[in-house]
Amino acid sequence: MAAIEIRDLRKTYRSRRGPVAALDGLDLDVPEGGVFAFLGANGAGKTTTIRALVGHLRATGSVRVLGAEVPRELPKVIDRIGALVEQPSFFPGFSGHRNLSLLARARGLPQARVDAVLEQVGLTARAASRAATYSLGMKQRLGVAAALLKEPAMLILDEPANGLDPEGIKEMRELLRRLGDEGRTVFVSSHILGEVQQLSDRVAIVHAGRCIATGSVDDLLSAGPSKFRVRVPGDTHETHLAAAVLEQAGFSVWADPHGEMAVDVTPDDSWRVAKVLADAAVYVAELSPIERTLEQAFLEITGGASQIAARVPEVGSEPGVAVEAAPEARAGAEGGGVDGNDGDGAQEPVTDVLDYYGGPASADATGRDEEPDAGRGTSGPGSGEVGA
Ligand code: ATP
Repeated sequence: MAAIEIRDLRKTYRSRRGPVAALDGLDLDVPEGGVFAFLGANGAGKTTTIRALVGHLRATGSVRVLGAEVPRELPKVIDRIGALVEQPSFFPGFSGHRNLSLLARARGLPQARVDAVLEQVGLTARAASRAATYSLGMKQRLGVAAALLKEPAMLILDEPANGLDPEGIKEMRELLRRLGDEGRTVFVSSHILGEVQQLSDRVAIVHAGRCIATGSVDDLLSAGPSKFRVRVPGDTHETHLAAAVLEQAGFSVWADPHGEMAVDVTPDDSWRVAKVLADAAVYVAELSPIERTLEQAFLEITGGASQIAARVPEVGSEPGVAVEAAPEARAGAEGGGVDGNDGDGAQEPVTDVLDYYGGPASADATGRDEEPDAGRGTSGPGSGEVGA
C-alpha cells in the first residue's frame, strides 16, 4: 500500500487578481518508509498539496493517506499521522516541556512521551527553557516533537528547514534522516535542493501545480543528458579547435574562454569523443563524467517548457524515473490546464475532521478561499501543527 496516493488533484483559489490554479491535476505516489522529498520552487503548489493531504483544504481529485480517503476517512488513520504545516506556534512563556505536556494531556497521551520526543529531537538540555528563548531551529524541532508525540507511522512536514541557518538545517536534516531510518514515512516539502539531495530516498518535483518528475535521487541524477569533461593539451586555442572538431562530428559542446570544455555524451559512447579527436590528431588529456547535482537536474526538468517537452520521451524511458511535460509545454496540446474549480467540488466539508485534530480552522476549511495567509489562526500551543 502506498503511504500517499494522489490522483488528478486540482485547486483554484479565488484571489483579487483573479483565479489562481495552485494545483492543476497533480498525481503523486509515496511509498511507505524512508524520506520522500516534495520539491518545488516558491508557488509551485507544495503547501496547497500538503494542506489537502491533512484535510485542511477542499480540492477536487482523489487523495489517500495510509489507505484512507481524505478527508472522509481521515479520522481512521489520523492517530498514525503527525504533521507540521506552516510555522509551529507555542506558548512563548512556557517551557518546551510544558508546551508539549499540555498537548499530550489534551490528546490523552502519556506524559512519558514528552521526555521521549524531546530526547528524539535533541531538545532535552533546553526542555526547561521558555519557548520564547528558542532559536528558530529549536522551535522547528519542538514542532516536530509535537508531531511525534503520538508515535506516528507517518510525518508530513511543510518546509521544516525554512528560515533556518546552516547549522539548523543540518540538525533538521539529521533528525529527519533518523526518523526515516526508523522506518517511518517522512514526507517533507522543500525548495532547498542541496538539502533534499542529502536527505531523501525519493523525490517528486512539482511545478505549476503538477508533479513533473518522480524517482529516487540517484535515478533523477542519472536521468537526462550526461556530460563529460574533455581536456586537451595546449592552450585555449587548442581547446577551441577540439571543440570545433567535436561539433563537426555532431556532438553538443560547451567550451568556455578559460579552456574548459564539456560534451553531451553517454558513458557508453564516450570513447567516440576520444576517437573523433584522435582522428583529427588531437589527443585527449582528460575525459571524465561530470556529476550532476539535484539542482542541475531540477533546473533542467523545470526549465523552459519546450526543452522539457523535447526531453520527455528520452528521460521518461529511463528506469525508475517518470518525467512528464511541464504544464506550459502541454498547454498547447490540451488547451490549458485550469479547470475552473474553486474548491467547491464534490468533497465533503472538513470541519469535523479539523475538530478531530483540534487544529485551527483555516479560511479554506470554512469554504472561503482568500488571498494567501487570510484567516490562518495561531493562538495556542501547537496551533500551527495538525494531527500531532
Ligand atoms: P512556497 O514554497 O512559496 O510556500 P508552494 O509551493 O508551497 O510555495 P503554494 O503555497 O501551494 O506554493 O501556492 C501555490 C499557488 O497558489 C501560488 O501561486 C500561491 O500564490 C497561490 N495560493 C496559495 N494559497 C492561496 C490562497 N489562500 N489564496 C490565493 N492564492 C493562493
